[in-house]
Amino acid sequence: MKEKIYTIPVTEAFGQDCECPLCLLHSKLENDYTDYYLGPALMEPDSRIDTNKKGFCRRHFELLYNRQENRLGLALETHTHLNEKLSQIKEISRDIIKATNIRRNSDSVLSSLTGRFGKEKKSASSPHTKLLKLLIDMENSCTICGRLEHTMDRYLDVIMYLWSKEADFRKLFSEKKGFCLVHLRMLIEASQKYLKAAESERFLSQLMEQQIENLDRIEKELDWFTKKFDYRNNDAPWGNSKDALPRSIQKLKGYSDLK
Ligand SMILES: [Zn+2]
Ligand SMILES: [Zn+2]
Repeated sequence: MKEKIYTIPVTEAFGQDCECPLCLLHSKLENDYTDYYLGPALMEPDSRIDTNKKGFCRRHFELLYNRQENRLGLALETHTHLNEKLSQIKEISRDIIKATNIRRNSDSVLSSLTGRFGKEKKSASSPHTKLLKLLIDMENSCTICGRLEHTMDRYLDVIMYLWSKEADFRKLFSEKKGFCLVHLRMLIEASQKYLKAAESERFLSQLMEQQIENLDRIEKELDWFTKKFDYRNNDAPWGNSKDALPRSIQKLKGYSDLK
């Protein structure tokens, strides 16, 4: 069986009753990575190089901070990341300030008369472009997101393998309540990446049939949830609708921390 280390969590997640087994895999990984970056990662030189370079996105800083564990460890990781980025920002800013000063001293009168300042196209190697690129990279980079993306791709590879090779897994897969739309998109992309064309077509058609059936189901559950607010339905049974709102949000956007 393909890459057993990834197969066990996949079959465990598909064994659970839930709105999206991939959300289960994702949240378990996210939890494990949060533990790791608040503990063992601090002693691993390779991990420190990675966190210095990438830092964390807002969601993962929130998860790490809100654990209320090892504030010193998180402060050390944040400090070395901040220092690395600060020196890069300073270096580019020095070039921006220097270039502006040179221009101001040389042809400021002519330039201001012709209105050339501010309209110039910035070249790809200009400090202005470099600064924007650095800031955008910083907004988008995250050590935990990077690892999640890598491991989720391994899981998707295994899911495609099991679906194409094992009848038991194919049956289990077809009995699930569909997936959140984020993981539905990932499954479609993975089927194109890991399955042969004919298999991928069959997978997509079965997946969408299952998905639409379950989107219809959750739409009805949410509809009944809203109707239960009508006093005339006070005594009517909830059915499956009591937690229809968080499950609908998960179905639309994937796993989140709804309290
Ligand atoms: Zn999901
Ligand atoms: Zn992240």
